[in-house]
Amino acid sequence: MTGSTSQSKSVSFWHETASALSIEGRALIDGKLVEAISGAQFDAISPIDGRVVASVAACDEADVNAAVASARRAFDEGRWKSKPPAERKAILQRFAELLRSHSDELASLVTLEMGKPISVSVAGDVNGAARCFGWYAESIDKIYDEIAPTGERDLAMITREPLGVVTAIVPWNFPLVTAAWKCAPALAMGNSVVLKPAEQSPLSAIRLGQIALEAGIPEGVLNVVPGYGHTAGKALACHMDVDGIFFTGSTATGRLLMEYSAKSNLKKVGLELGGKSPNIILSSYEDIETAASTAANTMFANQGEVCIAPSRLIVERAVLDQVKEVIAARAADWQPADPFDPETRMGALVNMKHANRVMDYVQRGADEGATLVTGGQRAREETGGAYVAPTVFADVTNDMTIAREEIFGPVLSVIAVDNAAEAVAVANDSPYGLAASVWSDNLTEAHLVAKSLRAGIVYVNCYDACDMTTPFGGYKQSGNGRDKSLHALNEYSELKTTWVRL
Ligand code: NAD
Repeated sequence: MTGSTSQSKSVSFWHETASALSIEGRALIDGKLVEAISGAQFDAISPIDGRVVASVAACDEADVNAAVASARRAFDEGRWKSKPPAERKAILQRFAELLRSHSDELASLVTLEMGKPISVSVAGDVNGAARCFGWYAESIDKIYDEIAPTGERDLAMITREPLGVVTAIVPWNFPLVTAAWKCAPALAMGNSVVLKPAEQSPLSAIRLGQIALEAGIPEGVLNVVPGYGHTAGKALACHMDVDGIFFTGSTATGRLLMEYSAKSNLKKVGLELGGKSPNIILSSYEDIETAASTAANTMFANQGEVCIAPSRLIVERAVLDQVKEVIAARAADWQPADPFDPETRMGALVNMKHANRVMDYVQRGADEGATLVTGGQRAREETGGAYVAPTVFADVTNDMTIAREEIFGPVLSVIAVDNAAEAVAVANDSPYGLAASVWSDNLTEAHLVAKSLRAGIVYVNCYDACDMTTPFGGYKQSGNGRDKSLHALNEYSELKTTWVRL
């Protein structure tokens, strides 16, 4: 079964698909769709035009308790963890196939709820999530445990076991992929999961849970509790019967989750947090057109709502004018347009509050002395949606607010430096350490800079290369865990030593 491509379908196809959606806003607990016990609901508002598209169960502590109890029962009864690996693999593979066959519906939900272009919802979210579940499905029956090299009369076995009940708390920017990056390795290891989607993007996550049931993942193994962070999210993170929190989101929330763990049962905490990623273009790199175009294209993709967005462009002065010229030209290709048009590259920001926050940063940039090269204004205001034009600031210094804080919108800061050593110093002068990049045709220079960059992911002569085989996560205040690759399985496991005296 192949996934659809958005480009093969017309804008009217996507509008019709979105209008025909039957949207589910209830929580999924113990295999059943349920309203919040309190009866509370909140509105899902589309940032495309400000319309209310659904009412969603506002889960709180009581619902979280029910979801955790269900997950624990499923775990203790061995409904999932005790299945032979080959059986779990087949079910997760079926799940991946079902996600692909529901691509139009899932992609429309993602675009409707958080405003990104439909092409990105198809390729990034749905196909990305399906690939992730398929990849971890394949891993399950290929991983062996270990025997330690002990003495002749001893047998020491090192085995990996699931943690138990884990919670995935995820953001709205890639609602399906961030959920998949947590749920897939967690399920592959045999854990039971409670997924808490962001309040801005609960609809695709609820559908994900329904499709998991259809694929044969037993009831209670994947529960979905929509709700606010300070209610549902906090209740999960403080719960005494949750064994691990796996979080993608802001550094501020990550800090709280560590506190909640410390004050409850010391549950394991895995954090994928924010970034302010440096992208260094050095004068030794000949193809400035490619380097600068990539800088713009990766900055403005997904409206800049990307944790690894290369938001600090650090450029050696010798090539600065050339880089700025290309960036300004490329930014023009990213004007916001109808998110359901498959040709659209930039959609709406997640909501009006976030668009206002981004515009406040634009004002701060101008106030602190940066030069606005392009953008800096709202777009498509007549639609009632949350659109901001692609924005580039030059003459930025690394102490300005727009160079230090994560904006999470389409705002690029260009910082000039004199040489590679200064570029590295500026790049590393940040509380974040998620991704970084260097463009250089000098092999030695490229390697030395890459080694010096304090970031979990370093690109050389590219940006945003991505594959399930490589770990994803940050240094410093960008977090402490790793998504993707076989390494992620360690996050969702306990290591047990069983020592047998022979
Ligand atoms: P956020 O921290 O506000 O929210 C993320 C999730 O945490 C949501 O589900 C929210 O409801 C929940 N939450 C909020 N407060 C909580 C609390 N007190 N207790 C428990 N849960 C709580 O982040 P956001 O604005 O939704 O997402 C944007 C952030 O996510 C950016 O900082 C971005 O860099 C980061 N992000 C990081 C990665 C990565 O892999 N490093 C990937 C995507 C996004």
